[in-house]
Amino acid sequence: MNNELDLCTLIQEFGSEEKCRTYLEKLRWPKGIHCPSCGSDKISRIAARNQFDCDACRYQFSATAGTIFHDTHLPLWKWFLATYLLCESRKGMSANQLSRMLKTTYKTAWYLSHRIRAAMLETTPKKLGGTVEIDETYVGGKPRKWRDRPEKQVVIGIRQRNGDLRLIHAEDAKSATVREIIKANIGSQVEVIVTDESATYPWALDKMQKNLHRTINHSKEYAHGDVHTNTVESAFSLLKRGIVGTWHKVSAKHLPAYLDEMCFRFNNRKNPYLFRDTMLKLIDSPNLEYKQLTAKIEDAA
Ligand SMILES: [Zn+2]
Repeated sequence: MNNELDLCTLIQEFGSEEKCRTYLEKLRWPKGIHCPSCGSDKISRIAARNQFDCDACRYQFSATAGTIFHDTHLPLWKWFLATYLLCESRKGMSANQLSRMLKTTYKTAWYLSHRIRAAMLETTPKKLGGTVEIDETYVGGKPRKWRDRPEKQVVIGIRQRNGDLRLIHAEDAKSATVREIIKANIGSQVEVIVTDESATYPWALDKMQKNLHRTINHSKEYAHGDVHTNTVESAFSLLKRGIVGTWHKVSAKHLPAYLDEMCFRFNNRKNPYLFRDTMLKLIDSPNLEYKQLTAKIEDAA
């Protein structure tokens, strides 16, 4: 398949169940089909049932066996199209939009997008280095009753210039909380740390990091030469457009999943194999139970 995957190519290559199935086969068994039970590569195809039969142990299996695609009533091409759409829409895609495009119920689209989103997770994100910008922002929180104060959620953004982005849902914006987040996301390769003049950061940085700390006074200027937090702020504005324009409201429970999805797409913005990579992750991902996703939800996003 070509590097650049556009909608026309997608329809050409994955417009039928059979084509999707063949693609999954190639992704799962790049060196040829072998038996998931005994590992043998002596396999017969039972074409009529889309299954394989292991000549060694007689185990019967399909290309979707043991994957997230199994036991789903959804045609494979809808899975493929949904994955493509979630990879390609820069601001994300709501379950409502997806259900209209795929002609599924809202519930199916919602469940589908959450499972794809879970697969997009960076499993072992590497720590950031070089020049790193840190900033915090507040999102969401519509009051339930007119008198209630909206519950704003804190999001800490860390962006390596010309590199990766991390968006982390924080309990609060206190130094101790931010310190743990910085520790988990910034490595020893860091050269410069830029923040605004908030009193949080000097307390949140360790001794080594303090020596690398530069601040910008936002009441006076947006940038002082190289000292600015513009690249992390542009990621925040993308996030907010996503939440306001696409997802409408995101419950606190699902916020981390949306943040991860945004980061994944952002960090893969130059990856020509994003669709294939996400499909590979989907094949390997455990099936998220609908029950698990809906537990204790008051307002589903
Ligand atoms: Zn076997």
